[in-house]
Amino acid sequence: MSLIADEIITFSSVLKISYNLLAGHNYLKRKKFREKKKLVGVSLPFSDLAFAAGAVPVFPIRMHSFKISNYLTYLGSASSFFGWNNVSNILNFVKNLGISEISEIVDDIIEDVIDTINKKYNKMYDIAIENGTSSDFCYGLKGLTGMHFSKGRNLDACLNLTIRCSAFNKYMESLNSINKDPKQIWIDIPPRNIGNALEILTDNISNAIREFENLTGNTITDNQLREHFKISNQVKKSYKTIIYDISASDFYPCNPATFSEIMSLLNITFNDYNSNSIRYRDNLISLVDEMRERIRKGIGMDVSKMPRIFVTPIFGGWEPKTHDIIYELGGRAIYADWEILKLLEEIPVANHLNPVEEYARFLLNATESGIGCDNDTLTDSYLRVAKKLNADGLIFIQLFGCHSISNCYTMLREKVRRELEIPTTAITFNKIGENVEQVKTRLGAFMEMFK
Ligand code: SF4
Repeated sequence: MSLIADEIITFSSVLKISYNLLAGHNYLKRKKFREKKKLVGVSLPFSDLAFAAGAVPVFPIRMHSFKISNYLTYLGSASSFFGWNNVSNILNFVKNLGISEISEIVDDIIEDVIDTINKKYNKMYDIAIENGTSSDFCYGLKGLTGMHFSKGRNLDACLNLTIRCSAFNKYMESLNSINKDPKQIWIDIPPRNIGNALEILTDNISNAIREFENLTGNTITDNQLREHFKISNQVKKSYKTIIYDISASDFYPCNPATFSEIMSLLNITFNDYNSNSIRYRDNLISLVDEMRERIRKGIGMDVSKMPRIFVTPIFGGWEPKTHDIIYELGGRAIYADWEILKLLEEIPVANHLNPVEEYARFLLNATESGIGCDNDTLTDSYLRVAKKLNADGLIFIQLFGCHSISNCYTMLREKVRRELEIPTTAITFNKIGENVEQVKTRLGAFMEMFK
């Protein structure tokens, strides 16, 4: 892992994103109690309306305190005196002194960011089971339910957008019985864009906006919506640059395992932008700049001989050691879930357009042609991104308990064989750390095909 830490430490933007992810507990407490902001729970990357309303969206795991946050808090304080770029330089300098205890600490920071989150995810899963959550739920839904059992009472509202997965919708319906206090704000998304679906969804969003206005006491104007969409468009643009311009290229700004680690960090934090859209936008822009700068200087790794292994979906849960194992076996793992589901599409913000209707169009497009209302559309989404990434292989994560996305693998394998002619395999997943040996064996056999 030390190589990964060595590499990651030179990305000050990664440190900032990690710090903001893990230091959420104190940040959110300050927002709620000192600044009297309303906290709104989000379960997927649908935080736009909460931001536009001046509320604070939160992916509920971030309300927990994390084991390493004290150390990162120290870094956070140092950053307010010296600036984050200098914190990164200081760490890099300290690292290069070769003092083993300090080196270990620096290594630990990075390793702990991912490990801590994963341990907490498993803990959330256990809490859900202890509280009698349906064993039919996938890992992601059990984790989310555990987050609401443990911290949901601190939320002022939950924003619930329906998607094609009936288990996901069942989970959202259960939130009211887990905690009575948070207001449940619903947006029903019609499954298909037929008839007056766009009109219905525009109305549903307008109703949700009114509920947000009641919750926050703020009026949400068209301009406020546009201003937020502009920020989120910049986030998406930077994210797409990392996916297409950098992850699919032949030279990486770091080693591929680090790169995958950064992509998994983005996958988690994109849900709520670490509760601050402007800060997150700035961090993503500087992440792209830092990556480009390193590439320009030739710092990083030639990955032209390493097959691009597209691993998906990971948002419902996957074994995070996957990318390390793939790297050790000579490949590079690429994660791009939100792009597959069309959640990285930009929202038009021209003044003559109605922003509520544009948001409805965005959600409808993601539902119908990204997530897909049927497996045929969903598998086409996987294929679209695999093609654009020029993937050399595809690994599909099949979750125990998932009766929606996971059952499309047979169709996907057939389409990949027919249209892309690249190797593909499926890995089953139940809980982090449970099946590492099996994953190793499976990946070992899969990666043999590239030798
Ligand atoms: S992984 Fe499957 S069961 Fe879980 S939320 Fe996604 S579609 Fe639903």
